[in-house]
Amino acid sequence: MTATTDVVVVGGGIMGMSIAWQVARRSSLRIVVLDKGTGLGEGSTGASSAITRQRYTRVENIRIARDANAIFRNWADYTGLAEPRARNHPVGVLWMLDDDPVAVAADRDRLVAEGVRAVVLDADELRDRFPALSPCLAPFDLTGETPHECRPGEAFLLEEDAGYFDPTGALEDLAEACRRAGVDVRLRTEVVGIDVEGGRVRGVRLADGTRIAAPWVVNAAGPWCNRINALAGLDLSWPLVPTRVQVLHRDLPPEVPRPIPVVGDGSGGIYFRPEAGDQQLICGSILEEDEREEVDPDELRRVADRAFVDTKIHALHHRIPDLPHRGRLGGIAGLYTVNRLDVLPVVGPTELEGFVVANGFSGHGFKESPMIGAMVARYLTGERLADDTEVPISFFAVDREPYELEGKNVLA
Ligand SMILES: Cc1cc2nc3c(=O)[nH]c(=O)nc-3n(C[C@H](O)[C@H](O)[C@H](O)COP(=O)(O)OP(=O)(O)OC[C@H]3O[C@@H](n4cnc5c(N)ncnc54)[C@H](O)[C@@H]3O)c2cc1C
Repeated sequence: MTATTDVVVVGGGIMGMSIAWQVARRSSLRIVVLDKGTGLGEGSTGASSAITRQRYTRVENIRIARDANAIFRNWADYTGLAEPRARNHPVGVLWMLDDDPVAVAADRDRLVAEGVRAVVLDADELRDRFPALSPCLAPFDLTGETPHECRPGEAFLLEEDAGYFDPTGALEDLAEACRRAGVDVRLRTEVVGIDVEGGRVRGVRLADGTRIAAPWVVNAAGPWCNRINALAGLDLSWPLVPTRVQVLHRDLPPEVPRPIPVVGDGSGGIYFRPEAGDQQLICGSILEEDEREEVDPDELRRVADRAFVDTKIHALHHRIPDLPHRGRLGGIAGLYTVNRLDVLPVVGPTELEGFVVANGFSGHGFKESPMIGAMVARYLTGERLADDTEVPISFFAVDREPYELEGKNVLA
């Protein structure tokens, strides 16, 4: 049996749902979103820390994150839902990385020039605004072998409008918005083949033996993207590597002073943010060495390693000295799809006519998703909306050269 539609989106993670919604809100194209999971968010998105920071090395990434942030701030308008489930948490993103006040001021100026609200705090201002945080910027040896002496830093960059979002709530909202607009969103539906004929894509084959014919197929399969590309007979020549990454969870008892922002902590090589109504902290790594564990996405060990939890918790205690050494401590693992060449994604048309990719988002995908959706939707429909980013889809083109970046960790 063959059904017919205009656009098939393979993958209902944050990319697939954002692309579908951005197409639906600007066109009357018929759209089908297919996800093999039994629920929303079983890929990368469900485990995402969903931090919405805008500080990036390249100006295009700053603009994409800034423009996406405007969407997160206006989520109800964007989705058309009177009571969306997802909430934006603009608690601020604090960068505790660089000891050189001149460099920190330059970083602020770069962001401000792009319309991002950012300020530099000195150590006293930091203590006033975030009394729980130690202002130490001395490197911290997580093994405990090198003695550590705290030394307050002089300058800290704060992105004032950024923070974090609710990743699974966002998926549910987008699925609901899509369904209301007539998009066919199907779970438990695995794509097992891509139909190609005469040099162009013709549709997809499903595990139940049925087909959906379509002139456009979008690969938004996250860590499974290489499999979908292979089904289409494509080798993109980009090393898009499914990678296991871990985060720990720690209770945040009432005696720790609030507010706690999102923190990027260079001393300990961690990031963290509040969660669950400020009752918990989520803490992950900003070190490239923690983004190296290549895995089969179907075989992910979801429980975090003891060694990861044991070392990162030291860094967390260093940054939050009042955090008690009691309470629940756990951790989970999720999946990045790391582009090992420049940690930026590949998005847009491929050499197979009608076959479009949105793959390889490393640790950046959540915050970029509304604008990746806009780029792809604009490409598919030719329609532009006022809240689209100005950054062209060609910035992430499949046939681009890798970009030069200072580092290839999640902060790139
Ligand atoms: C621990 C962790 C922390 C993170 N923190 C941040 C952060 O702070 N900020 C940020 O911006 N980003 C962050 N990220 C990255 C971000 O979450 C990802 O870039 C983003 O979720 C990728 O979304 P996606 O839709 O491409 O992939 P996914 O969410 O993996 O979606 C792909 C979907 O495709 C489906 N699929 C696969 N194969 C098939 C098939 N054959 N047929 C049908 N369906 C299929 C899967 O079931 C899956 O649901 C984090 C990620 C992790 C794991």
